[in-house]
Amino acid sequence: MIESEVLVLNAGFVPIRITTVKEAICLLLSDKAVPVVEEDTFIRSPSIAIKVPSVIAILNYHHLPRRKVVFSKLNVIYRDDMQCQYCGKRFQMKHLTVDHVIPRSRWEVVTGKSLKEGFSSWHNLVCACKWCNNQKGNKLMHEIGWSLLREPFEPEYIPYIIVTAEKAKKKGWLPFCGFNVKIVEMIP
Ligand SMILES: [Zn+2]
Repeated sequence: MIESEVLVLNAGFVPIRITTVKEAICLLLSDKAVPVVEEDTFIRSPSIAIKVPSVIAILNYHHLPRRKVVFSKLNVIYRDDMQCQYCGKRFQMKHLTVDHVIPRSRWEVVTGKSLKEGFSSWHNLVCACKWCNNQKGNKLMHEIGWSLLREPFEPEYIPYIIVTAEKAKKKGWLPFCGFNVKIVEMIP
């Protein structure tokens, strides 16, 4: 229970991170935070009983912590909002892959660059369903008459917090998940 997860909001009620019940209670007891959603259970010590929080807000903290968007396959999938950039359909994570728009075997001839120069980058990787990925193989877009839903780009922003719909619902986090949170079917 003490290690259960608690959603932390800033003073403007924007979600900034997930912490543990243990740390949340420390913040509450030191008056740095206030409870926003509480569970029906208590944590008791000889001197106090405190309701277990599931959402807290940090007083006097109005910022969003800075975070650079790390280049990773998972973040490519999140950038594309779990939508296959070839067929345009949305899939659950288990059906998704990332695909090189210009395949490895064609990169140097098509771009005149070495593989180290942008082959595996935000600009050549897209989220693709397994089916499209398979169909595309090592062909170029125009060779099979496909077009991309959107030109791949380096995102300036990716939500800080990624949670499953089930957890957000169970913990009473949903009303706070409008900004900075991505709700997914399952965490890969
Ligand atoms: Zn597809």
